[in-house]
Amino acid sequence: MKIEDVSKSIEVVNDEKLYIIDVEQWNVIKYNPVIDEVSLGGENIMRLLSGMIEFTKQHDEFCLAFYRCNIGTTRWRWLFCELLKTDMGWQRVKIEQIICENCGWKGEIANPTLPSLYDTVSNKQEALNFAWAQPAKNCPICGKRLPRFSIWTQSTLL
Ligand SMILES: [Zn+2]
Repeated sequence: MKIEDVSKSIEVVNDEKLYIIDVEQWNVIKYNPVIDEVSLGGENIMRLLSGMIEFTKQHDEFCLAFYRCNIGTTRWRWLFCELLKTDMGWQRVKIEQIICENCGWKGEIANPTLPSLYDTVSNKQEALNFAWAQPAKNCPICGKRLPRFSIWTQSTLL
């Protein structure tokens, strides 16, 4: 299949073209995980992607993006990340599970400061500086700073 067949839209984020995956097309991708003649990856990658799709289905403010990463001059592969809709536009994030060191709150956060999110961006440092400059969310229970940089938090459902 072609990336356009399984994308809902194309967004330019950090001066890079990101393909927003249509969650309704996930079953199609799952049974034939080869897009534009490049395989998405093995079982572990597919399991990881399945989890990311489930997460975006449950949270309207997030979406899953695919983008290309060149390997040398002739080859490339697919990379992917979650995007969070902010007042400034789409922000690349990684969803992480954390525990507040002060009160023991457990939850999920969106962290935009992982350097690996920006490996394919032409100005990586600028993208990272921008990520760190966003308003951080503190622990939703005690209000103290969380052990990881967060721009979104959600309590783990028990
Ligand atoms: Zn706390």
